[in-house]
Amino acid sequence: MKTKAKSKNIATLAVHAGNQAEAADNAIFTPIVTASSFIQQNIHMNGNYCYSRVANPTRKAYESALAELEGGVYATATASGMAATNIVMELLPKDAHIIAMKGVYGGTWRLFEKLKTHTAGATISYVDLNDEQSLVNSFQKNTALIWIETPTNPLLELVDITKVCRIAKEHAITTCVDNTFASAWNHKPLEMGADIVMLSTSKYIGGHSDLIGGAVITSNEALASRLDFIKTTVGSVASPFDAYLALRGMKTLDVRMERQCSNAHRVAEYLENHPAIASVYYPSLPSHPQHQLCKAQMRSGGAVVTATLKGDIQSLKRFIKGLHYFVLAESLGGVESMINHSASMSHGSMSKEEREAIGVYDTTLRFSVGIEHIDDLIQDLDTAFASMNISQGNYHA
Ligand code: PLP
Repeated sequence: MKTKAKSKNIATLAVHAGNQAEAADNAIFTPIVTASSFIQQNIHMNGNYCYSRVANPTRKAYESALAELEGGVYATATASGMAATNIVMELLPKDAHIIAMKGVYGGTWRLFEKLKTHTAGATISYVDLNDEQSLVNSFQKNTALIWIETPTNPLLELVDITKVCRIAKEHAITTCVDNTFASAWNHKPLEMGADIVMLSTSKYIGGHSDLIGGAVITSNEALASRLDFIKTTVGSVASPFDAYLALRGMKTLDVRMERQCSNAHRVAEYLENHPAIASVYYPSLPSHPQHQLCKAQMRSGGAVVTATLKGDIQSLKRFIKGLHYFVLAESLGGVESMINHSASMSHGSMSKEEREAIGVYDTTLRFSVGIEHIDDLIQDLDTAFASMNISQGNYHA
């Protein structure tokens, strides 16, 4: 097959990566191959495919694209982001110690705490990975993995990927970065020293709120071969339909991210100046404590903004009711703007004490900013704030 020179530009990569047109009668877009099984000429004479849990042409094209996009040599596309995280967990020996960034996504926390501690004997330390001393102090003889999430969900704390991966390498500890919030558009952790990238492709890769998927990507051949064995064994693979949708979504990643991230910056500035807001978390605002790290590490502040409103849960409910374009929904990363009430949604499996300890309050809202016109989004927020029915200057913390 003719090989094309690989662009370094994500806009081009996202359109052309994984293209296997010549393997599919020169179809310009990868077809959906739904076959579960592939006819073999004789025993020991498999073609490229034998059974779709092991490999499938549509999934393969999508996986090649994901690997290229993140700068890896291997990707496995899974049925969800959580299935991808679970595959990474299967790399670890029994009774392993995991160090995770404090404030990781609630579903990751649930997998670690409510499952892996029981089924795999795992122990987990939640650490501020930016505090080198705390990180080093938390190392144990059986520490097998450092789980980095950056920016974190929902408070958008950043982790210095290059620094943490360097320290991990000195101690022969594997690193995995959940790159869901940033996506390869903002940074490529494998090129910054990470061993593994995990993604919920339900977000920016798919981009249209119409699929659930995940991926594990690596540039390490030994890890690739182990991950492939685990994928085939546990079988939590993406369906050909979802692989097709995600590959289709990926092609517009660059234009979507450009618009979403610039819209998000404007929304963050607007919220920061609004009297009904107690605090805003957005990495590229100068007020964010890791603003410098954001400038060094990310291409933008991302497309998610988090804010804690003044007032109580009733005023928060009035605000949500007053929104028109921002819809209340689980998830993020779609072309449409969404808000998420972290306390009852993404972090609903944590007790009030557990989530308040990481800074998620009853009046904390996560805004996933879409591609709509920024004037309409700001107008939407204005209208909703007005419907909170609290006079200016009378917002109670
Ligand atoms: N990681 C992060 C940061 C997430 O926000 C999510 C979902 O919201 C996941 C992982 C899990 O992905 P999925 O919902 O596709 O299983």
